[in-house]
Formats: sequence, C-alpha cells, structure tokens
Amino acid sequence: MNKRSIYSLTLPEWEDFVVTNGQPKFRAAQIFDWLYVKQVSGFDEMKNVPNTLKELIANVFDFTTFKTVTHQVATDGTQKFLFRLADGNTIETVLMKQSYGLSICVTTQIGCRIGCSFCASAIGGLVRNLEAGEIVAQIIHVARAVGERIGHVVVMGIGEPFENYEALTTFINLINHDKGLNIGARHITVSTSGLVPKIYDFARDHKQVSLAISLHAANDNLRTKIMQINRAYPLSEIMKAVKHYLKETNRRITFEYILMRDVNDLDEHAYQLARLVKGINCHINLIPMNPVAELGVERSSKKQVMKFKEILEQERVNVTVRREMGANIDAACGQLRASESKGMK
Ligand code: SAH
Repeated sequence: MNKRSIYSLTLPEWEDFVVTNGQPKFRAAQIFDWLYVKQVSGFDEMKNVPNTLKELIANVFDFTTFKTVTHQVATDGTQKFLFRLADGNTIETVLMKQSYGLSICVTTQIGCRIGCSFCASAIGGLVRNLEAGEIVAQIIHVARAVGERIGHVVVMGIGEPFENYEALTTFINLINHDKGLNIGARHITVSTSGLVPKIYDFARDHKQVSLAISLHAANDNLRTKIMQINRAYPLSEIMKAVKHYLKETNRRITFEYILMRDVNDLDEHAYQLARLVKGINCHINLIPMNPVAELGVERSSKKQVMKFKEILEQERVNVTVRREMGANIDAACGQLRASESKGMK
C-alpha cells in the first residue's frame, strides 16, 4: 500500500489524528504550520514535533510521493510540470504569469472519463481520482520550484473536478484556510463540464469560490455531439442550476466557450449563445481551440473569433477572449494529458 500524501488532512483531521495517537491537540497546529506556512520538505525539519509523533505520522503519510519528471518553460513564461505520483502515474500542472501575479492550473484526476471531443485529457479515459493531498502537493511543489508565492488557482487541469467532489472540497479547504496556504476563495476558480447535481452542492458548500462552466455550444444537439455529458445533463438543467447558484451566492458565473472552426463558431451560434444567457449575470470566456493532433478539430480563424465576440457584445453580453499561454510546450487549455507517451519537446 502506498502511503498517503502528507497534504491530505484538514486541521480538524490532524487534531483527530494526534489526539487518537495519544498526543496533545496543539501538535496539529504545529504540524499544519510546518506544512503550509514554512512548507518544509521532510520530517527532520519539523523541529518542535516529538520524534514519536513524527514516526506515527511517517507510518501513514509521505513527503516524497511526488517526483518532478520534467519542467518546461514556454516562450511566454508559462511553465509546465510533469509529476510522477507514488503509484507511477503522471500528471501535468501549469504555472502562468498573469498581470495580477502567479496563477496555477491544477489537475484533479489521472485522465478523465467525460470524453469531450476536443480535449486531450479524454484520450485514454479515467485511471483514478487524485487524493486531496495530491492536488495540494501540486501547488506546494511548483511554488517551491519557482521560489515564489502562488496567489491564484484554477482547477482546469486534467480531469473533471466535480467527479472528485470530496477531494476537491478538502483541497479548497486546505488552500483557503488562513493557517493553510491562505489563498483567497475568490482567487480560486473551479471549472466543470456541467455535472448538474454538483453545481447545487457547490452553491451550498463553496459560496465564495468562482465557478466556470464549459458550455461550448448553446443548443442541445450540438452540445451532445461534442460533449456526451450533455445527454445526462442538458442545457435546460444546467441553466436551472446556474440560476440557483447565482441566487445562492450572489456571484457572477463564467461560461467557457471554445471556438472550433465550422463546428460551433458560426454567427448563428453566437446569437444562440446570447439568447441562452440573456438576463444571467455571467461572463463569457471565448477560448481559441488549442490543437490536439489526434483529435482533428480545427481552431476558428482570428477573424471569426472577433466576429463571434462582436455579435455577443452587440447583444450586450460580457465577453472576453482568453489569452493563449504555453502553447509551444503543449501547456495550453485542453492539451494536458496524464501520460508521458507523447514526446515531450
Ligand atoms: N473538466 C473541466 C475542467 C478541465 S478542462 C471542464 O470541462 O471544465 C478546462 C477547460 O479547457 C474547459 O473549458 C475545457 O473545455 C477546455 N478545453 C478542453 N480542450 C480544449 C482545447 N483543445 N482547446 C481549448 N480549450 C480546451
């Protein structure tokens, strides 16, 4: 049995752990501080924690479950890390330099079973969910590698976060906690392909965390063609859940819309999209499709991207085009994959 990542437990769970092992409760706060404030890389450095307790922890948890296989830097400064996990699987994590600071894109599953027709993560299906600690460890390892604090997190790497909801919740709790990584909830964005029941759970559990929904089509026929999950959760149900989310949270929601040439980028699609989101407090993020060699879907022309945007603006919809980052190291949206088999550049 592989040991669990040392970043797996919330503060109350550490309290349970130390108390169950006959140690005073305050030890939990000390451990938490070493892990998240001092960010030590081994048990030796936990100076004020008694050896007996460290041994008990080391029987169950491990610091060294994460190995950096490759670390690439793109021409625009975007960095991609390939990590090997304790069980030999690999995942990708991306760090971006934004105008407001560093932002990290984390992975929540090894592979993905949603099977969207345009996404590299779908190739090969789902292997397993990541544990909360394995999601947190991505931030700790990347921050350590670059020697800087990371202030923004997007849960948009490999996987469907709402299929791994419990780990996602623990992850958010750990990175948001003021004695943890202390990353503001409003600086965390979770993106989902639209698992409707979990949108309701998210509205209840994470009112301050930002939510983005991968829409990519504004009519059911087309959406089902490119995202099979639309069969289970069609647009009417997504929009109902979105309205509930907005009422519960008083937030604005983001809709992501990848522009694919002649698939969903025609003028009529823009009008459909405007109609669908009419009256909804939202922001549309248009994503120029990133190439995935095996999938044979093409990106829209620059001209059509601008046209699509203009139509939405005319219809008074908030819209921006996502800045492309990391494309030359296959670190752009939808290009991440849970394998090394594709030659790294
Ligand atoms: N499963 C979640 C989060 C991971 S994908 C979701 O579907 O939202 C993060 C974003 O990248 C999604 O909007 C996804 O649709 C988009 N994406 C996937 N493949 C892409 C590609 N080839 N080019 C551009 N964006 C892509």
